[in-house]
Amino acid sequence: MPLPRARVLVLNSALGPLDYRVPAGMTVEPGSIVVAPLGPRQLVGVVWEADRLVTEEVGDNRLRNLIAVADAPPIPAALRRLVEWAADYYLAPPAAVLRMALASTSALEGVKRITEYRATGVVPERLTPQRAQAIERIGDRQGLIRELATIAGVSDAVIRGLVNAGAIAAVEVDLDSPYPLPDPDHAPPRLNPAQRDAATALADAVAAREFQPFLLDGVTGSGKTEVYFEAIARALRDGRQTLVLLPEIALTEPFLDRFNARFDCAPVAWHSDLRQSQRRRAWRAIATGEARVTVGARSALFLPYRNLGLIIVDEAHETSFKQEEGVHYHARDVAVMRARFEFCPVVLASATPAIETRVQVAAGRYRELRLPARHGGAELPTIEAIDLIAEPPPRGRWIAPRLVQAIDATLARGEQALLFLNRRGYAPLTLCRACGHRFQCPNCTAWMVEHRLIHRLSCHHCGHMIPTPRACPNCDAEDALVACGPGVERIADEVAALWPDARAAVVTSDTIWSPAKAAEFVRRMTAREIDIVIGTQLVTKGYHFPDLTLVGVIDGDLGLSGGDLRASERTFQQIMQVAGRAGRGEKPGHVLLQTHQPTAPVMAALVSGDAEGFYAAETQARREADAPPFGRYAAIIVSSEDREAADDTARAIGRSAPHREGMHVYGPAPAPLAMLRGRHRFRLLVHATRGLAVQDEIRAWLGTLAWPARVRVSVDVDPYSFV
Ligand code: ADP
Ligand code: ZN
Repeated sequence: MPLPRARVLVLNSALGPLDYRVPAGMTVEPGSIVVAPLGPRQLVGVVWEADRLVTEEVGDNRLRNLIAVADAPPIPAALRRLVEWAADYYLAPPAAVLRMALASTSALEGVKRITEYRATGVVPERLTPQRAQAIERIGDRQGLIRELATIAGVSDAVIRGLVNAGAIAAVEVDLDSPYPLPDPDHAPPRLNPAQRDAATALADAVAAREFQPFLLDGVTGSGKTEVYFEAIARALRDGRQTLVLLPEIALTEPFLDRFNARFDCAPVAWHSDLRQSQRRRAWRAIATGEARVTVGARSALFLPYRNLGLIIVDEAHETSFKQEEGVHYHARDVAVMRARFEFCPVVLASATPAIETRVQVAAGRYRELRLPARHGGAELPTIEAIDLIAEPPPRGRWIAPRLVQAIDATLARGEQALLFLNRRGYAPLTLCRACGHRFQCPNCTAWMVEHRLIHRLSCHHCGHMIPTPRACPNCDAEDALVACGPGVERIADEVAALWPDARAAVVTSDTIWSPAKAAEFVRRMTAREIDIVIGTQLVTKGYHFPDLTLVGVIDGDLGLSGGDLRASERTFQQIMQVAGRAGRGEKPGHVLLQTHQPTAPVMAALVSGDAEGFYAAETQARREADAPPFGRYAAIIVSSEDREAADDTARAIGRSAPHREGMHVYGPAPAPLAMLRGRHRFRLLVHATRGLAVQDEIRAWLGTLAWPARVRVSVDVDPYSFV
């Protein structure tokens, strides 16, 4: 009789599945989370169906015993299928995908209570600058000593000192306290007819318990959220779980408020800002099925929901759903696959659906539900272009006269204005007037961006920062540095000069770096403590401010440079999205779009409102070029700190490229971002027809090659970024 053995996928991306012996007295099943020995170490892993993951056969006599089974629910079969699919599709090690499912290792331990710390309000007698900084940054946050130290940017010892001084105290936390249950009947809205039809279609699909993808397509403010809330209500009544994916954690807080108003309690939140105890609690409640509604960033997609009945992807066109590190996956696409494995509907909600999604609708694979108008008769804003060549702003300024007048009028009516510029900091480039020296990041092919508020030059790719120097490091000239081009901080200076009495706020990831900061911004906007908002893309989504009636786009052309295949589409989406912030209440909204190319098709479409015409032309151009979604791309990125090693490997890969009908390999060539975080980068781009199994080709191709350990080769299937 064969010994009871188990095939285990251990959390080590360098290893394939391994076989173990199940010792007497232990029982495991596929999905069981186990602790397995590996050399002298112990690793967490998941028991897998032996016929689904191939590995080298090992004789019974060489098997080692599993050590323990974790006190946690097993990973469900649907999620195991998703892990296999994602690993296969994105050419990633299965263990790297599985790691995202087991995102809270503390959730696997039996611990039920832990000690956290929070501020008491007591001011310590000895208030060093470090202590003051810690108290200020921690605010009313709670966490482990280490977590508070990270938040505060101080050492653990400083936090312990504050505990001893009575400024921070211990709190016992019960890790298994249950989440409240949302009430589907708490405050249902009265839907308008179009909303009702869409809501009924979604609720019926939830009840049917079958895979069905939907596109919920409606202009900003048409009530998409209200509609999918009714589908959530149906899932709640049926006792099933819902996952809502949002593109940014900054959107979580406004979402929580709305959810609370509709269902009388908050959903379970999952994002990178959670502390360890919150993570553990959420993970376990999701795994037991007790967490009924989870709202999260893309990482929430791989959690072990026990009985998922509905997936919503809000703002589904957003490119932030594309993960660019580790496993390169697109959360929108993985969400659809997850729904397939879970036998449940998935709803992609968007006012500006991606061409990929529209093509699925046209092919009859996704069902489209349309909400044609804003709820309650609010009009969509009018969009007007300002030709920066014909009507330029004065020298050294960025706001054209017509936009200045519009802001004057808006302020005079007591309404709010939003100026949109998708560029953090003060200026994107700093140079020396005396010698022409430009400040470049030593680790990246990128200019250092000036952040005047903190007196730093910062690289937006690797985070490298230096104090803004007084003298040029190249020619020693003093006070000769000039800022070139605007960032939001520079626009804020211009606003302060033009409207000294207006209350302005800058909204970027530098100022809104946590859900609590986002909530504070929403409160100040709603309380009318802000007249003019100057913001990056962070402010374009989700918010609903009835008195915001004017949107000024400072540089409509910004997204068009770079020549990326989705540049026009993305520009269209982004400007429609930010335009959607205007005129959401009773007062009509107006958008002024500053551009150097008012006749470019995307600008003309924005002004005329002819979205269908624009999309039709874009789609046709993609079709003719065999670009996605009609053909496909995969990028192979070769990087190393050693330029020659990266170059050699990239060439070797290029030389051994397979010759296949329907597939063409471009490159290698230095990547546009030729250096990133100190690594030299070379790219190959594979272009293939839809019908070709491009992953299999790449797997076979790279599988025969070897490269030095200091070279990293990563594959990006369906890339969004071409740098
Ligand atoms: P979208 O998600 O399409 O941008 P929202 O769901 O955010 O639209 O709706 C926009 C605004 O209109 C919100 O303040 C929402 O509460 C309100 N609204 C939409 N539909 C209704 C309705 N049927 N009854 C009451 N308010 C509604
Ligand atoms: Zn850098």
